[in-house]
Amino acid sequence: MHYNGSPQRWSERANGPLDSARIQRPFLWDRPLLLRGGRLVDPSQGIDLVGDLLVRDGTVCALAETVPPPTDALVIDATGLVVAPAFVDVHVHLRDPGYPEKETLETGAAAAAAGGFATVCCMPNTDPPLDTPERVRALVERARGLPVRIFPIGAISRGRRGDELADLAGMAEAGAVGFSDDGDSTRSAAVMWRALEASRALGRPIMVHCEDWTLAAGGAVHEGPVAQRLGLPGIPAAAEEIILARDLELARLTGGWLHVLHLTTARGLALVRRAKRDGVWVTVEVTPHHLLLTDEWVAGIRRFAGEDEVLDPGPCPDPNAKVNPPLRPETDALALRAGLRDETIDVVATDHAPHHERDKPADLERAAFGMIGLELALPLLLRLVRSGWLTLGELVDVLSCRPAALFGLPGGTLRPGSPADVTVFDPEVPWQVTRAALRSRSANTPLLGLTLHGRVCLTIVGGKVVYVDEAFAHRSARLGGWSDLPGYAVRSAPDG
Ligand SMILES: [Zn+2]
Repeated sequence: MHYNGSPQRWSERANGPLDSARIQRPFLWDRPLLLRGGRLVDPSQGIDLVGDLLVRDGTVCALAETVPPPTDALVIDATGLVVAPAFVDVHVHLRDPGYPEKETLETGAAAAAAGGFATVCCMPNTDPPLDTPERVRALVERARGLPVRIFPIGAISRGRRGDELADLAGMAEAGAVGFSDDGDSTRSAAVMWRALEASRALGRPIMVHCEDWTLAAGGAVHEGPVAQRLGLPGIPAAAEEIILARDLELARLTGGWLHVLHLTTARGLALVRRAKRDGVWVTVEVTPHHLLLTDEWVAGIRRFAGEDEVLDPGPCPDPNAKVNPPLRPETDALALRAGLRDETIDVVATDHAPHHERDKPADLERAAFGMIGLELALPLLLRLVRSGWLTLGELVDVLSCRPAALFGLPGGTLRPGSPADVTVFDPEVPWQVTRAALRSRSANTPLLGLTLHGRVCLTIVGGKVVYVDEAFAHRSARLGGWSDLPGYAVRSAPDG
């Protein structure tokens, strides 16, 4: 992310009040919880069946076509809903410390829970940056007791300046699950070399934002016909691909673990494919927005990649469509989907990048890069299921099982005995993307005003109910299954 503008105080609440009532508190049931009659989708066990899931004492207890409810169980009707391992996001910006007007650990955790995520990994481009063991430890401490699991990513270089290696071993010891100078590439190839060497011993990835700053400098959007039409300075695809080629080569030379953040181009995909074939230790993520949106969205033309329908136009230009790396042409989005399907791309991550309205002026050259993602990932990816690009099982795999397994994070499975991190969602229900419908502190998304399909009903983390959709709570109460649920959704719940 590139920040323009200084941090604001808590008291400046132009993005709306930080409404504590909207932040549901974790609620630990002391009774077993039976989710009955849902479609259980868990690729980690090759499971896709209609049945019941029993949660007890914070762990998954049983799943089968029929699980008899223990006498003291709370039974929730999940008919017509999908029950899956909760989602895991290895790339979010929670802006904490330093930018509470954009997001905090608390509001970010609330947005994550509402998006179906149990676990998120947060980037170190905060103020101050997470570049020392002490700062990483402090974040781990502060994240304790929040509704979702938050794991910090430490900076690769001191101060994220790109010229001096940070204390990676110390930060790993303090709880960093990976290292990144995200927002920028690490300028020094020598620092990258040493970071990748260290990653081998630490078993943690070096997560790279690939962007040659001399080629990208001053650019606002993808360099191409749309940029020309709007008279905006472009960021060429080569800015990404040149640094990607450098870092893949460094990974090959060192044997270190390179994780490529937010891959966006077909040419970059080909570079990764070749490196994987050569045995380079590289993993790759893609964002929902680079799979679904194109650079036309910057011009307010709202048509999803691969679809014919043109939706209601957005602002032109739309500062909320300015993101780094930029939205690319449709051919790139379609190539990335193929890469996801053939597993050249390992996982989907949101790059949730909240910004205050003030940082998104209509003048695109002055607007900050970034868009929110946690609450929009599911409905966006469900479009790929409806159009046949992914199965529902594959969606759960790339958004939950694979990121958990790859990064050694909790969750990503409904195997009995594992932590009860569960997401229940309705894949069809329509809802309108509005500021009020979002729990993030920010609402910077080019999807504002559109109606999407698919919404999370319930998120459970370690057996604690951390999010309940209000409509679902009322439905449950009507069916007599869970009379406490509506009360939980509209009031704040008792402390867990
Ligand atoms: Zn980035």
